[in-house]
Amino acid sequence: MHFNFKGYLILIALILLILVYEILIPYIRHTRLHWDTKELYGQLSGSVLPWQVIGKSTEGRDIYALELQSGQDTTTTVIFGAFHGDEQTGFHLVVQLAETLYAKPKLIHSRVVLIPVLNPDGLLKRKRTNANDVDINRNFPTDNWTPVYEKARYHPGPSPGSEVETQLAMKIIDRYHPAKIISIHDDLMMNNYNGPAKELAEEMAKYNGYPVTSDVGYPTPGSFGNFAGEELGIPLITLELPDTNPEDAWEENGQALIAAINFKR
Ligand SMILES: [Zn+2]
Repeated sequence: MHFNFKGYLILIALILLILVYEILIPYIRHTRLHWDTKELYGQLSGSVLPWQVIGKSTEGRDIYALELQSGQDTTTTVIFGAFHGDEQTGFHLVVQLAETLYAKPKLIHSRVVLIPVLNPDGLLKRKRTNANDVDINRNFPTDNWTPVYEKARYHPGPSPGSEVETQLAMKIIDRYHPAKIISIHDDLMMNNYNGPAKELAEEMAKYNGYPVTSDVGYPTPGSFGNFAGEELGIPLITLELPDTNPEDAWEENGQALIAAINFKR
């Protein structure tokens, strides 16, 4: 191919445009999100909302929960934000849900327990794994737990249930006996269900429009979905957000989460 001077200029402009859109803009967006995340986590301790510290992370950071109930029905939905510290949108979404339900308790008719971040060490460092470099979502003591893993991001830990964050998630189930669980991740954009939760996933899809599936497309031994959904039989949704900002995530999922809390089989 023969290029004249003008041709080279157009080529350089195209390459610059691709660099800006594919690398620079996403980089700035994720960096800003991380600043906002650190600020929001810091604000939880001084919030007017009655957050309780329900446990400590590997490095001793506070893990918060908010329990809200409206009416006499004690049927409990547990909602987790960030298991994975680099998936920060879910953290913002659960804090936003907490503020909304605290201001308007009548939006729900039962009990909900909100845990914005199970892995604050990872969240503040913007990394998937916990402070021991373990993927919490591969560390649960399931029949299919395995010490074998292909990538560092899926490190299942030295033994099943070895991590304090994993143990805390299990304690929350023991304490609340939830009727259903929602665990928020990004960015596969789907209502993924484990256990008897297909109808719940379909209910959420009415509001967020994301596909309903029982299969994320790759094996997830030792995952929370396997543990609580498949083995304990608790309806469990892994809500996979798209790669988006917290405002749009709330726009798409605020109603879906409230509908999920109010959903009865
Ligand atoms: Zn995730």
